[in-house]
Amino acid sequence: MYTVYKFGGASIKDVENIKNVGNILLSYTEGSLIIVFSAMGKVTNMLENVVEVYTQRSSDPFAALQKVKDFHYEIINNLFHKNHIIFDEVNNLFVEIEWVLENEPSSNYSYNYDQIVSVGEFLSTKIMSAYLEKVKFKNKWIDARDLIRTDNTYRDAKIDWEVSVSCIQNQIKYKHCITQGFLGCTSENFTTTLGREGSDFTAAILAFALDADKVIIWKDVPGMMNADPKHFTDAELLEQVSFDEAIELAFYGAKVIHPKTIQPLKKKQIPLHIKSFLHPLMKGSEIKEGIIKKPEMSSLIVKDNQILISISDTSLAFIVEMHISMIFSILAKHGIGVNLMQNSAVSFSICVDNDKYKVPALLNDLKESFDVFYNDDLRLYTLRHYTDITTNELLKGKEIILEQKSRNTLQIVVKH
Ligand code: ASP
Ligand code: MG
Repeated sequence: MYTVYKFGGASIKDVENIKNVGNILLSYTEGSLIIVFSAMGKVTNMLENVVEVYTQRSSDPFAALQKVKDFHYEIINNLFHKNHIIFDEVNNLFVEIEWVLENEPSSNYSYNYDQIVSVGEFLSTKIMSAYLEKVKFKNKWIDARDLIRTDNTYRDAKIDWEVSVSCIQNQIKYKHCITQGFLGCTSENFTTTLGREGSDFTAAILAFALDADKVIIWKDVPGMMNADPKHFTDAELLEQVSFDEAIELAFYGAKVIHPKTIQPLKKKQIPLHIKSFLHPLMKGSEIKEGIIKKPEMSSLIVKDNQILISISDTSLAFIVEMHISMIFSILAKHGIGVNLMQNSAVSFSICVDNDKYKVPALLNDLKESFDVFYNDDLRLYTLRHYTDITTNELLKGKEIILEQKSRNTLQIVVKH
């Protein structure tokens, strides 16, 4: 039976952390592992910059790529002897990207994005696989494109579950396997990505297909917290969270796990552990069927870079079903999810992530049929299982633009 491990960018951001991951794996003595890696450190952001420069032609994409090269060469120079085969492998991956950059970009931004950004995961897994072999952790490197089949919604590819499950079951037959998170492949063999932070989702897909006994996501935080510990020093660890509550928390933007991760695990009742790679012996959090949260407390989630869009009929008619259905089909066309919505007699307001590519196009489309006003640079707070105390604390001193309350959830949009 397999256990699935997922290591994110922070866990392999430098030589010291890479060695730490090696130690965690060497101390594993139970069964078989599938190990999913993200790109190292902030490499995905660096590659996004390459795509940006390449598609906008704003400056030299080769110079932007050079930063990614320097980062990886510094690491492998430190980890391997000069004539180790990894130098050729890393070189070849960069040559492939240089070929892409020499050609005209396709008019499909997201397609360009996936072909370039995916190299981050190929680099990290090649390097990790070679390093782990070096320290005598035997493993098999597997191309995620042979495992995860998707449609061609680049940057947000949808999984073809049937094909993926059978590919995974056929390909995974080694004791310990290493593969890339975040990546998939279309039936025409083009590389796709599953959305930022999608490596968690990859771990869940693999666990689902293999009926794994558990998934462990190794993070730079002690586990799932009741608030983001990077912003709230008094954040507390949740020892246990139910699948349903974890889905809610991830949906509202808790960054600790990708929102799509939980559903496949819940379907197969595969527990998910979130543990600190810095303190591997600590228990961390466990997400499984059962009590909602242990200990019981409010959870606070903060989402920045929000835009609140108010939409009304050009002749100020009442907002009726027809308007709302039109608004939602425009949102669907642009692939934009709504974080919060509210309607009054003559206007319909939505709060969405202010994606710099998607939102301008959305606004243009909406303006063709509606009067549109918006307010950007906003912050959305979501408080789950709020109490009077936590609510008062949250509202204190804030300029509230919109507020919504249900039995379990309080959301407010504020000026940042
Ligand atoms: N490397 C990708 C990202 O940074 C995927 C991941 O980390 O899960 O978004
Ligand atoms: Mg990451």
